[in-house]
Amino acid sequence: MRVKVSSRSGRNSLRLLALGVVVTAAAACGGQGGETPGGSSSPSSSAPSSAVGTVTDLSPDSLASAVTGAAVTGHIRALQSIADAHGGNRAAGTPGYDASVDHVAQVLRGAGFDVTTPGFDYPRFDAGTTSLTAGGADVRATALQYTRGTDGKPVTGSPVTVEGVGCAPGDYPADSRGTVVVVGRGECTFTRKATLAAVAGAVGMVVVNSSDEPLVGATLGADNTTSIPVVGVDRVAGDRVRNAPSVTLSTTARTTTVASRSVIAQTRTGARDDVVMAGAHLDSVDAGPGINDNATGAAAVLETALRMGSTPSAPRGVRFAFWGAEEEGLIGSGRYVESLDERARESVSAYLNFDMLGSPNAGFFVLDGDDSDRRGAGPGPSGSDRIEAVFSRFYEGRRIPTAPADLVGRSDYAPFAEAGIPIGGTETGAEQEKSAEQARKWGGRAGTPFDPNYHSARDTVDNVNADALAISSSAVGYAVATCALSSGPEVC
Ligand SMILES: [Zn+2]
Repeated sequence: MRVKVSSRSGRNSLRLLALGVVVTAAAACGGQGGETPGGSSSPSSSAPSSAVGTVTDLSPDSLASAVTGAAVTGHIRALQSIADAHGGNRAAGTPGYDASVDHVAQVLRGAGFDVTTPGFDYPRFDAGTTSLTAGGADVRATALQYTRGTDGKPVTGSPVTVEGVGCAPGDYPADSRGTVVVVGRGECTFTRKATLAAVAGAVGMVVVNSSDEPLVGATLGADNTTSIPVVGVDRVAGDRVRNAPSVTLSTTARTTTVASRSVIAQTRTGARDDVVMAGAHLDSVDAGPGINDNATGAAAVLETALRMGSTPSAPRGVRFAFWGAEEEGLIGSGRYVESLDERARESVSAYLNFDMLGSPNAGFFVLDGDDSDRRGAGPGPSGSDRIEAVFSRFYEGRRIPTAPADLVGRSDYAPFAEAGIPIGGTETGAEQEKSAEQARKWGGRAGTPFDPNYHSARDTVDNVNADALAISSSAVGYAVATCALSSGPEVC
């Protein structure tokens, strides 16, 4: 699950896609050897559970039962070991991530799947260190994501406060040349304001938050070409900056190009033009090994693939995806969807997403495909309501209460939804606090995050909620089998 990011300066945007960078490496096809007939055991020795055979009589319930918490935990341990052997994380662009890709691809090839590892490049932003002084005194400031740096040459100018919100060229005074523009947030993107400030001749820009909180999570977008550095400050600091005789700004922020890969594995049976996809991101953040977020989802999808096998008796084809660079802005999944031509896009009948399945203080959320919650984002593409109903049926059958998860776009279903592909999924909660009502519903601790270790070094195999993982992993198997076995015009 990626962090919340805002590119609109007035409110949180649904998501940010890093556009404008081309896919540089085509998929390399593999998996020609090692074909395994359905029902036999897999030759792979990389994962403990792959010694277990595929389900003999594929059904939603048989696959739900076959995908066990113990087997999924085996895959999770393998990913934890990979992180341990590579500096403690599996972030995109690192050896730990590459080892994760190689591991998952090898296990799937061993089970007879057609496996590809499509590569892509993306811009990676490093915030570095930022310093801002106003009248000689330090002011706390944060670099906006994807701002340019000052290249060791701090910029200095007198502060100029723009008229209004700074969304129109006329808001910028004629004497802005060589100044540092100070602007409030609101109404248009940060990038528009920075572009107008640069056109007016400013050498830097300071965005003032509308509250006493630091301006965090603000982005210019990966494709911005703004020529001046842009930093954010809280409201009080904004007043100090505006009233100072002179402002000096320096930041070592920089953006570099990173190469990464996703893993795509498809069954050898079922319709090629009517495919169900199940996906999970395989990358972690830099801060830790990324076990609940999201070795849990990747491991559950992997185990579902192994138990379903590469040649299931199902009318639909099934394609399993392990995305790279989700934490960097849904890059792997976004590039994948962009790479599909119209026919390939239409052949994907449903996309099921799994991100964080073993949260320590778990809830059981189902992506709100029909927008029954009437909050936040609207419904998913037509058919998403039916996918939601599949997950609801699974949890109802086990008398586990669920809650709808608003389609905020913080995971890999977002590019699929934008392409009009029906989406769904389940998750056990990220950094948000569990409410008192939710604690009554699910147990656990009110006032504590669903995952207190979110995006930290503590997100390890020791902190996975085994009960929540076992239940939600079974839900993966149940939903994938339900959608693979359904045929005709309905999604699932
Ligand atoms: Zn995450």
